[in-house]
Amino acid sequence: MTGEFRSLPSVDRVLSDERIKSRESVYPHELLVSLVREQLDSERRRIASGKKPHTAEEIADGVLANMGSLEKPSLRRVINATGVILHTNLGRAPLSSEAIAAMETASRGYCNLEFSLESGKRGSRDVHAESLLCRLTGAEAALVVNNNAAAVLLGLTALAKRKEVIVSRGQAVEIGGGFRVPDVMRQSGAKLIEVGTTNCTYIADYEQAINDRTAALLRVHSSNFKVVGFTNEVGIEELAALGKKSNVPVFDDLGSGCFLDTAKFGLAVEPMVPQSIACGVTLAFFSGDKLLGGPQAGIIAGKKEYIDKLRRHPLMRAMRIDKVRLAGLSATLLHYLKGEAEKKVPVWRMIAAPVALIESRANQWAKAIVMQAEVVPGESMVGGGSLPGGTLPTRLVAIGKGEQTLVQRLSQQLRRQEVPLIGRIENDTFLLDPRSVLPEEDEIVLQALRAFSPD
Ligand SMILES: *Cc1c(COP(=O)(O)O)cnc(C)c1O
Repeated sequence: MTGEFRSLPSVDRVLSDERIKSRESVYPHELLVSLVREQLDSERRRIASGKKPHTAEEIADGVLANMGSLEKPSLRRVINATGVILHTNLGRAPLSSEAIAAMETASRGYCNLEFSLESGKRGSRDVHAESLLCRLTGAEAALVVNNNAAAVLLGLTALAKRKEVIVSRGQAVEIGGGFRVPDVMRQSGAKLIEVGTTNCTYIADYEQAINDRTAALLRVHSSNFKVVGFTNEVGIEELAALGKKSNVPVFDDLGSGCFLDTAKFGLAVEPMVPQSIACGVTLAFFSGDKLLGGPQAGIIAGKKEYIDKLRRHPLMRAMRIDKVRLAGLSATLLHYLKGEAEKKVPVWRMIAAPVALIESRANQWAKAIVMQAEVVPGESMVGGGSLPGGTLPTRLVAIGKGEQTLVQRLSQQLRRQEVPLIGRIENDTFLLDPRSVLPEEDEIVLQALRAFSPD
């Protein structure tokens, strides 16, 4: 064993490998040395475990491979052919060209983030998206933070700490990714008062729970599940009316931030922000990167008196949004104001895509792969905490029907492409859904499919 340790090449010996030497012009010497040391450490562990030692050249191979993965970004572009339009694990909403351009402009140079061009004095970052949001939602005031989870936490902390918040038992839910209404409530210091039952809550349940410790009535949109059968939920209109009558603020956590009528596309009705504001809720909370189709953000719209309290709260500083996403969000909101969201916002382009068009793309895709592939009817999902159970008819490319091993290999190979192609596996069949892929990405899909060889 000791003899084998002694045969371990020196750091200088590995560094003298021509291929590593040629990287001296790219990397500082210290980085190359530490990469070589790490590789030699792992070689030592290898020898200690009784394996055959590598040659100096093989050790250099290892160094070069680590150098390669260092250069390759961990966060990479992928093609989402899963058919889930708002796929949280795949980064939710892709952005419009206009939003991307605005984000590029904001990041390339300086901007008037907190500078008034009029007075030449300090300005506020809040003003940039606020007027667009007010116009769109009909609210008096609006505020943008990091994400919707932050928005809700800020709202409850600033306005309900050490007081009570009344929530229907059917809405004390987990949204996913650790966002649980009871936990957020505890974190904010507000006391959760659950009323009604899992399946049925009536307006009288809320009314009876109101007392002088009540800070708010909260509606949480059950965005990722559906209760069916014998159920009753109190609508936001009725809840807002009760709030008004009892002089208690009403908070509406909408989740998705929907501004177009989903029913028009054959989907279930998703609560819309302007309707909620029109009902008179005090504050509405929603995400920037769900159905709104913009960058990650949390938006709070509602009564100015309350928004101003949130603005002044110390947590606001910890939750504030950056200039880049603020620019992207504003550009996205503008699409809605101009009435062009369905054509410009990728999420809505995908939702609105006609099945005939999806079918012709699926046929092209199916022809590109050497394996037997057929185009079959199926369903796409909106996902991402909106429209629970809401699906859209689509056409799927079904490959390798029932051939488990082959399907696994195909799925793995497509993930290893330069731009990974992600599909889904159902009943040992590999499925690709063109709906969640933008038509301008089709060429990448075709290339990936053409490159696959089953053996
Ligand atoms: C998604 C969602 C959240 C969390 O929003 P993020 O923007 O992901 O932080 C909160 N509440 C509801 C109802 C949601 O659907």
